[in-house]
Parts: sequence; structure tokens; C-alpha cells
Amino acid sequence: MARGKDEVPEGSGRNGENNMSKKNVSKEKSIRSTKLLVETIITGAILCAGAFGLKGVLDQSRMVPLSQYAEDTDVPIAVPTEADPDQIVYTSVDMPSADVSKGDLILVNDEHQYVSDGSENLVNINELNEAYGITFFSAIEDDYTILSQAYQPMADLLSDYYNQFFDDTITIYGSYRTNEFQQQLYEEDLAETGAEESSRVAKPGSSEHETGLAFDLSETVNYDYNGEGDQAWINENCYHYGLILRYAEDKKDITGFDPEPWHFRYVGAPHAYYMTTKNLCLEEYIDLLRGNFPYTGAHLEFTDDSGVEYEVFWVPADTASDTTSVPVPEGLKYTVSGNNVDGFIVTVYKNRPAATAPGEPQVPEETSAESEEENTDSEEENADEESEVSADEAE
Ligand SMILES: [Zn+2]
Repeated sequence: MARGKDEVPEGSGRNGENNMSKKNVSKEKSIRSTKLLVETIITGAILCAGAFGLKGVLDQSRMVPLSQYAEDTDVPIAVPTEADPDQIVYTSVDMPSADVSKGDLILVNDEHQYVSDGSENLVNINELNEAYGITFFSAIEDDYTILSQAYQPMADLLSDYYNQFFDDTITIYGSYRTNEFQQQLYEEDLAETGAEESSRVAKPGSSEHETGLAFDLSETVNYDYNGEGDQAWINENCYHYGLILRYAEDKKDITGFDPEPWHFRYVGAPHAYYMTTKNLCLEEYIDLLRGNFPYTGAHLEFTDDSGVEYEVFWVPADTASDTTSVPVPEGLKYTVSGNNVDGFIVTVYKNRPAATAPGEPQVPEETSAESEEENTDSEEENADEESEVSADEAE
């Protein structure tokens, strides 16, 4: 096996070239440059050819007249390596800069309010349930709607719960709310408590329910969903369906909300997986991506427990322009979401080919839950290890 370039004996210099005279260094470099290029084109395997192979190449090269290299300088020459098959090639799409406030990953709280432009793609929960023959859960009111991409994950979660526990008492107690309805709820709560600010109901504009990405669970026996007993299965497994428990006890100081074991928020399977297994609330996750994983730096890389590999990064919105150029991978599935703070988050599915034409933002076609049961323990361990590496990079 050829000596790798990292294995040069101590004291011999970075490239092991200090043994040669200065004059020779330049010559050797230029000769190697030419020959390596040639060899790369021919076989692409020169680096593995061994020390004898390299020496032979250099000897033959000396037959080329030296004058040909008169302009040679000491500019470092990159050693060619075999093309990395995992290297992602990026192109870009133009996103309206205003779309920072749209997408599965938008952060909505008192600091980052949601302003609707009326374009939410809402679906009626009970109508869809009827169309799909779902009878084991329903919305408490027939006019309850939810954003289209959140319906299926919610239905899949509750369907799998029902198939396991045969509990048909779960009900959707809250879903999409207009800003006006949120205002009404807020005022009702103030009237009831006599407080100046509510700790139970979000201010208008600060509620995730206005995005259509969130829903509240209850049940039809005591109307008291606490995520305990059989219900604990829902709270523990929701992340497999792209859903997070948004307001946890140990994140009170960050979210500003008392714990709400009934409030679920759709963020998409990759992000729900990462946030849940790393115990990050949405505020922390959005900050992590903005602070540590810009497109121009290291990207957040992890593998979920279904073996899907992801690369996630942040792109700042171009506030001086109506559009922002967002780098996206060529030939691979990806999604783009605003963060409702200052930019876009790109999620690359590294081992999933693009399902549609390049350049079109895509919607994830499935949640990771569908193949979760096929996992082996070793796959899960691998996923954990890779996530661990990413987390270290993050800190
Ligand atoms: Zn809620």
C-alpha cells in the first residue's frame, strides 16, 4: 500500500519534499502536476498505485523539456482524489423573500408573530375523515380545519394509536384558528382569570394554531388529555410522524408556555426526529441552525431511525430583494421552509432521489413512521452515533 500523505515521517515537511533541493521541488511539483492529471484521466487510481508506480511516472516525465515549465511557481498543487460519490451538487431556486413566514418550520411565539396572507391550504378534518372512512377520532366541531400537510401525519398517528389500544375517544379539540378567533379566546381567558396577561392562551399572532400546523388533543370521556396511560404512546411516538410536543415542562423558560401535553405541532419527520432525540424545542432548533449551520459552513448531518440521511442548513433571506436565491441539491429530494425569523431552512434527503423536476420545491411524500418497524437495533445505534457527531459540531 502506498504511503498516504498523512503518514510522512516527522521532520520531513508537509509534503515530504524538503529532502529535495529547492530547484527540484519546483520541477518535481510541475512534473507531478502534469502526470497526475494525465493519470487521473486515464485511471483515476494513481494514488493507490503505490510508491513504485509514482516513481515510474516521475522518471518518464523527465523526458519532457524543462523549458515547458518556465512559468512554474511554488503555488501548492492540489493532489487529485477520486470523486466523492456523496458530494452534493448544488443549484439554486429563487424564493420570494416574504416566504420566510411560510413553511413547516416557521417559529411562532411572542417574539416572532404569525401574519397570515390568507394563502393557507386548509382541509376540513371531519370531511376528510369521512372520505377515508376514519371513525376512531374526529374534530369536536365540524368546521375545524388544519393545514393540508399536517392532516395525514395526524391521522396516521391516531390510526396507529387506535390499532394498538382500540381507544376511539380521542378528539381534535383545537386546530386552525383565525387571528380573530385567537383574539376572542384570549379576551375570554383574561375575563375569566382577571389577569392582565394570559399564561394559558397565546396572544393573537403568537399562536401556532393560526398557522394551521398545530392541533390539540382531548378525549370524549373526561375531556382531559394529559398524555398519560395509553395516551403516553401518542406523546412518545409522535415524532415518527413529523410531529413534536411543542410545549414541554423543561422548556418552559424558553417557550414562555406552561407545559401542554395535548398540543402537537407539525414540523416534518427529519426535524421532529432531531428535535425530539436531542431534546430541543423549536426555539432552540431554529437558533441552532441559524447560528451553526449556514449554507456556507458545515451543515447539520444526521440519519433518522429509518436510515434516511439528512443534511440541513440555513440561508439568510435577502432583505434587500424581493427574492432570495436558495441553494438546493441537484437530483436529490429536498424541502425549503421559512423560519419566520430571518431566512430559509433547506433539508436535503441525501439518499432519496428527487421525485419531481429539479428546481421545484418538494413536499415530503411519507413520514418516517412507515418503515420504522423494519428497523434493526444496529441501525438505530448508527443513527444515534451520527446524530451525536452532529450535536458535537453544534456546540
Ligand atoms: Zn394548542
